Amino acid sequence: MNYRLLFAVAIFSTASFLNAGNLHWRSEGGTSDGKTLTFISPGRTPAEPGAEVSKAFDVSSPVSGGILRWRVSDSFDGGTCGYIVYGIKVNGDTLWQMDVCKAVNREVKITLPKDMQISEITVYAKIKKRISNFGVSISWQYLSFEQNGKEKTLVTSDYTKFVIQGELPPEIELKQIPVRKEQWLENAVIFQPWGKYEYQILYKENPPLEQICRDYGITAIALQPWPNFQRYGYKGVTEQDFIDVLKECRRLGLKIILYSSIMHQGHGPQWQNGILEKKHPEWSQRDKYGKPITHYGHEWLCPSTGALEYTLEYTKSLVESYECDAIMLDNNEFLSSDGTGEGVTCYCDSCRADFKDYVLRRFGDSFGDHFKITKEDIDIPGVKSDLYNLWIHWRNIVWADALAVFREQIALPVFANTQYRYKNFWLATDLQYEHEEAVFSESGSVTGPAELSAKMLLGNAIADDKPLINYMGTFQKHVSPVVLRPPFEAGHAVAGTLAYNAKPWLLWHGIAENESNPASREVIRTLMKFRADNELLFRQLQPVGTAAVLFSPQSRNYSGKPLIPSFAADMQLSGLPLQGVWQHSIESRLGRYRVLAAQNVTCLSSHHADIISDWLSEGGVLIATSDFAVYDEIGRARSVSLLDKMKSTAGNIHVVDDAAEMGRLILRFADEDVFSGSPVEIRPYECRNGFVLHLVNHSQKPIKDGWSFEVPKKYLSNIKKCEFFSPETKEELELSADSGRLSNIPGVKFYAVIKLSK
Ligand SMILES: [Zn+2]
Repeated sequence: MNYRLLFAVAIFSTASFLNAGNLHWRSEGGTSDGKTLTFISPGRTPAEPGAEVSKAFDVSSPVSGGILRWRVSDSFDGGTCGYIVYGIKVNGDTLWQMDVCKAVNREVKITLPKDMQISEITVYAKIKKRISNFGVSISWQYLSFEQNGKEKTLVTSDYTKFVIQGELPPEIELKQIPVRKEQWLENAVIFQPWGKYEYQILYKENPPLEQICRDYGITAIALQPWPNFQRYGYKGVTEQDFIDVLKECRRLGLKIILYSSIMHQGHGPQWQNGILEKKHPEWSQRDKYGKPITHYGHEWLCPSTGALEYTLEYTKSLVESYECDAIMLDNNEFLSSDGTGEGVTCYCDSCRADFKDYVLRRFGDSFGDHFKITKEDIDIPGVKSDLYNLWIHWRNIVWADALAVFREQIALPVFANTQYRYKNFWLATDLQYEHEEAVFSESGSVTGPAELSAKMLLGNAIADDKPLINYMGTFQKHVSPVVLRPPFEAGHAVAGTLAYNAKPWLLWHGIAENESNPASREVIRTLMKFRADNELLFRQLQPVGTAAVLFSPQSRNYSGKPLIPSFAADMQLSGLPLQGVWQHSIESRLGRYRVLAAQNVTCLSSHHADIISDWLSEGGVLIATSDFAVYDEIGRARSVSLLDKMKSTAGNIHVVDDAAEMGRLILRFADEDVFSGSPVEIRPYECRNGFVLHLVNHSQKPIKDGWSFEVPKKYLSNIKKCEFFSPETKEELELSADSGRLSNIPGVKFYAVIKLSK
């Protein structure tokens, strides 16, 4: 008998079983030696249609035909049909299948044709329609196969349990504090005297603060409050000195950002002198061996503990005493105690209790089905598992919540200093960006224009229209903090910041007069003065571009994929102004773009996949590598390929694994965006009465006078005037745009701007 015919017989058998009951029932039975195989589809965990669990048994033998017997029970107690089915396959073809129906010890016997060679028998359970609420368990007992009068029990180990991979229950809502929009922060240029007492820097060094503000266009200052600078050895300085500094800053019209933190109380004296770690050892971030993090001399504090309230009160007292305009929280993150995965934090008692509470609140009774543990055993795992991955996710919630607590009680802009492009999951900063007034990060370790542009693209995607502040790497961190980088490097640190419309954060290092620095200082000053003198080229800008890269922190966290895909940096000089979408803002941001490139986005929630599917059905184009969404949002393997499912339901999907080919495809689908023939990176923005094109020269050599490039049509309709602005020349210069080509453009050293006015 061929398989097709067998399948027809099988369907007939099923129908008979369900309707007429004329199958051969096994009359004997009993309870003596039953081994049980259980399939579970957990409750409150929406599963995708097609999701399936199965167990196959190898029954190869020279004998053909045979008799299959089993008993089956399922726990389904409702009237809904057609959501979950279970059945048996022989040699891969369905022999028997039925809907869940609260079967109790139902006995089934099927005789297989005598001429049929049988190699494999598979039992399975499968989701037919998307379900979200009810859970079902299906138990097979006495599954046996008889040939030539010899019966063989197939399930030999008792209580073997398989769980249908459902989705995670909905996330517990995080505290939402509306973001405060402050005009000054949107246009801030920030100066930070650091590494020395502010009083010394601002009163005793040359040039004086007033001149720095004028030369560099400074509008805000970031200060470490008294008496924390005492760690630099300035014992004799008084609080009054600090108040004098504040007065001087106010006189100059500067907004004041005060430095604080949760993890080390903003270098506060109680942390700095070790009192806190002695008095409250239970407040320290600890790895799984109980070891704390001691970077900067003392133990880092954990926001799950009383340290949160303590540092909040400390920060509130700063706001009350010194009347600032914003708070910056340094290193708002967990870390590893030893710089390896073994030292990842935090396993403190509070984190362990809070994590257990989170699991129970989010999963209800279904936690056991998901993580195969009892309630008593819910704890932060020491080794990789699904529960460990859930903990990785939860660590991000801890910092987002901590930031929300601060912002609820401090009626000022609050933002954190985070390393948002960090190489792995250790820091747990992914969820806090939407809970702060600005996104801020240090770029001291960034080398070169390509790396900075890639970081700024990511930063803008994360900031999602809020101010992105870039701490510029203008000084030689690893040589001497007061020595500036060579002019080429220092110039690019500023140019990339300006071109991506990030707010410059300038360190005092090397800005004070110093014989070794004049050329670099002049480059920095020229670029920043240009920004100050041409404010309108930086105000109310909306980035233009229809193609975006999807940045996936989940794929970094669970699959170790680079956060910035390789093709993104490769495209900086292609003429296409690529934009970015942060995975956690897909919902609000994807609609702006028509082409989305997803390189190694291995982890994606079904919710986000649904959003992408809807976007595809409205004309979007997805270019993805073949590993797209093979895992869910906490890195659990999917039983159904989302990419295949999306391909079958919604439009324009291109699967390509080669990075160069991915770049070519993006250029093809977004060709109306491409500035052809440009030797520089172009970042275009829509502004009040037209467009501005920010240009960054990535080369060490200046671009010479007389160069040209083509401007896409969409920028040129109704444009009356094209002007070229350069930091090196005082006057702007009018350009001609003949048949879409801007030509005779003056030279570009690091950076320039072209304005297209209506
Ligand atoms: Zn902790």
